[in-house]
Amino acid sequence: MEKDIKEILFTEEEIKKRIEILGKKISEDYKGKFPLFVCILRGAFMFLADLLREVQIPLSVDFMAISSYGGNTESTGQVKILKDLDTSIKGRDVLIIEDIVDTGLTMDAVTRLLRTRKPKSLKICTLLDKEERRKIPVNISYYGFKIPNKFVVGYGLDYKEKYRNLPFIGILKEKIYM
Ligand code: 5GP
Repeated sequence: MEKDIKEILFTEEEIKKRIEILGKKISEDYKGKFPLFVCILRGAFMFLADLLREVQIPLSVDFMAISSYGGNTESTGQVKILKDLDTSIKGRDVLIIEDIVDTGLTMDAVTRLLRTRKPKSLKICTLLDKEERRKIPVNISYYGFKIPNKFVVGYGLDYKEKYRNLPFIGILKEKIYM
């Protein structure tokens, strides 16, 4: 797998340090509350697991599965819900945990849907932000790293379901998907 990586953007240690800071900030901001963390599957599972260990307040977790790319590296703009939440979010302080915000189409669709269910608050926490690719503005409350317009894998992120188990985040060699 590692031979398919052009460049490591963030090492395991760098990711860990950044998540410690994020966890502290989220713990302060949600102090006295009982937030619901909504993990967007599948890419965000590793981020969720590490972030949760750094958050020091009571919380609950639910999962939502979305398909956006259909196995390619370009967003289709079509967002399909493959698995909906099991929990009611009405009146809850909801924090969406996402792997990467790229065009913003996915987060725009997900937040519009969740808002109809009347949460008390709704915020986004994304590990990666590919800001220059944004097509729709997305209000991101917490992010791990801003990244350039490159296709990245590892630490939960895949290309055709591969590379999720790499402990770092790296840029995939173009020849793999070109
Ligand atoms: P958006 O709707 O913002 O364009 O795309 C969001 C989704 O596209 C993410 O949840 C992620 O699944 C996928 N995505 C966007 N950029 C990348 C990337 O560089 N690498 C991987 N593996 N997935 C990406």
